[in-house]
Amino acid sequence: MTTYTAPVDDMQFILHDVLQISTSGVPGFDELEPDFTKAVLEEAGKLASDVLHPLNKVGDEQGCRLENGVVRTPEGFKAAYDKVCEGGWIGLDCDPEYGGQGMPHLLNSCVGEIFVSANMAFNMYQGLSHGAYNAIYTHGTDEQKRTYLPKMVEGTWSGTMNLTEPQCGTDLGLIRTKAEPQDDGTYKISGQKIWISAGEHDMTDNIIHLVLAKIPGGPDGVKGISLFIVPKFMVNEDGSLGERNAVSCGGLESKMGIHGNATCVMNYDGATGFLIGEMHKGMRAMFTMMNEARLGVGVQGYSQGAVAYQNALAFAKDRVQGRDVTGAKNPGGVADPIIVHPDVRRNLMDQKAFTEGARAFALWGAQLIDRSQRSGDAESEALVSLLTPVLKGFLTDKGFETTVLAQQTLGGSGFTTEWGLEQFVRDARITMIYEGTNGIQSLDLVGRKLGLNGGKTVMGFFELIKSYIKENEGDAALKEGFLDPLKAASKDLQGAATYFMQNGMKNPNEALSGSYDFMHLFGHVCLGYMWAQMAKAAYVAKANGTGNAAFYDTKIATGRYYMARQLPATGMHRARIESGAAPVMALDVEQF
Ligand SMILES: Cc1cc2nc3c(=O)[nH]c(=O)nc-3n(C[C@H](O)[C@H](O)[C@H](O)COP(=O)(O)OP(=O)(O)OC[C@H]3O[C@@H](n4cnc5c(N)ncnc54)[C@H](O)[C@@H]3O)c2cc1C
Repeated sequence: MTTYTAPVDDMQFILHDVLQISTSGVPGFDELEPDFTKAVLEEAGKLASDVLHPLNKVGDEQGCRLENGVVRTPEGFKAAYDKVCEGGWIGLDCDPEYGGQGMPHLLNSCVGEIFVSANMAFNMYQGLSHGAYNAIYTHGTDEQKRTYLPKMVEGTWSGTMNLTEPQCGTDLGLIRTKAEPQDDGTYKISGQKIWISAGEHDMTDNIIHLVLAKIPGGPDGVKGISLFIVPKFMVNEDGSLGERNAVSCGGLESKMGIHGNATCVMNYDGATGFLIGEMHKGMRAMFTMMNEARLGVGVQGYSQGAVAYQNALAFAKDRVQGRDVTGAKNPGGVADPIIVHPDVRRNLMDQKAFTEGARAFALWGAQLIDRSQRSGDAESEALVSLLTPVLKGFLTDKGFETTVLAQQTLGGSGFTTEWGLEQFVRDARITMIYEGTNGIQSLDLVGRKLGLNGGKTVMGFFELIKSYIKENEGDAALKEGFLDPLKAASKDLQGAATYFMQNGMKNPNEALSGSYDFMHLFGHVCLGYMWAQMAKAAYVAKANGTGNAAFYDTKIATGRYYMARQLPATGMHRARIESGAAPVMALDVEQF
């Protein structure tokens, strides 16, 4: 019942008018000419609309089944997966040495949004593989890379990330899975992992599990964790598949959403594993991939909001109820379409303004990752590290909220399965939980990232906003609608950071009680900054007479809405932060 159209024009605007990628000086970005990116995005859009989106409901209704140890994915998933592989999409940003196309992460993020909007559960199979590819690519030996990466890039083998166990999710120091060293240099891996996405399925010939485990005798806690490659089928020297390894799927989780993705209990019964990276340095290996993985989940969050908005908008133009209070807009009909009503407008504007701002923020984050990886730019790396918990936490919280707003646009139809909006709500919900819950993201932001480089990175961010405002203050249209609100919001952010500095040292609860608000305050400032830049690009393009004037007018009006209606939330978040720990910590445990 739902449909999906890739937002190619909006992505093109962000890539070329706002981020101005082909002249941004990042190695490899000069290839990203507008015609080229348009062709790639349109092709991805076709696959998303015609193949992946029609399977979204099928996946939700059928779910996955475990039959004699084999997980059966929903009807049509395997054929669609083969099409994704044939198109070379799996290795879009992977190294050409292993068969990838060597495209920037930025372009992959655009394609990621398109595929995830179309079918989040389906896209998780290749999403998890990409995480495993990155782990091996970054930390594996040459031999490990040669053995696993070409097949993973072509998509005939997939990958997983195995961290969680029944007794540990957030606190990985509690991991019990054991890795016993063997004489031949391999390890015997024993233990149980739970909730492993794409842990077992019928779409690829082999599954390469990346598993966190402890080598006996190592340090306690997170310092004693190592990372291992554990293939489902052993790989012979000539690259062919050998015998089945001692790893199996012990069950499938029944869950609220993403039914088309298999969430597995994985049992390791003395399975053969290969150490990847240094012994006891598994957490460090995981951390180097975290910026990219968390940005990926942030993209998942707003993507569900984006597709939900498209469908809510179509409904609002079609459904007739009541009359426009200022005069009938559909006098020949029995009533006016609900989009005439201010409250429905508010609802749709919230969805649109968030989604477009989020897209720009995520693509800026992806550009920073490319700049840090391709130019070795330490400042970009530090900045994206600072922004990562915001990209993950804010974009998924607000992305979920956007799906609920879209559901509300449909009234009762939004609650029924027939219209499909409720699936977006259910699917988006997990993005706030996995890859580190959003509460943990906020602790990372306040506890670790604010102090990054002795506080220089966050000061650099404040300076970035300040100099942007100063540079553009002469532009009257930009100043009133965009720069003044951004200045006020940025002042709230700096005020909140100062509160933490002055009070958090004496009592950490003063900082941690406000961390969630701080993450949202930060997110709003980032989106405000994005909207100011988008408005500027739209004004410039309009003045130059290039492109579609109606598109730019819409952009400016949507941005004005965000600045006027969403950005003032920074004042509320600051007030909550400055109320301190006392209201949060007032009750004894027994009083709850
Ligand atoms: C559908 C699905 C797919 C998943 N896929 C994978 C996968 O592929 N691989 C994998 O390894 N894992 C996966 N997970 C696991 C997921 O990453 C964890 O659920 C998540 O990290 C949270 O851990 P937990 O559920 O054990 O919650 P807990 O750690 O028990 O936390 C419970 C609550 O307490 C809070 N909390 C915990 N510690 C603190 C603290 N110190 N300060 C403040 N608050 C705290 C948390 O924010 C949370 O709200 C998946 C989970 C699901 C449901």
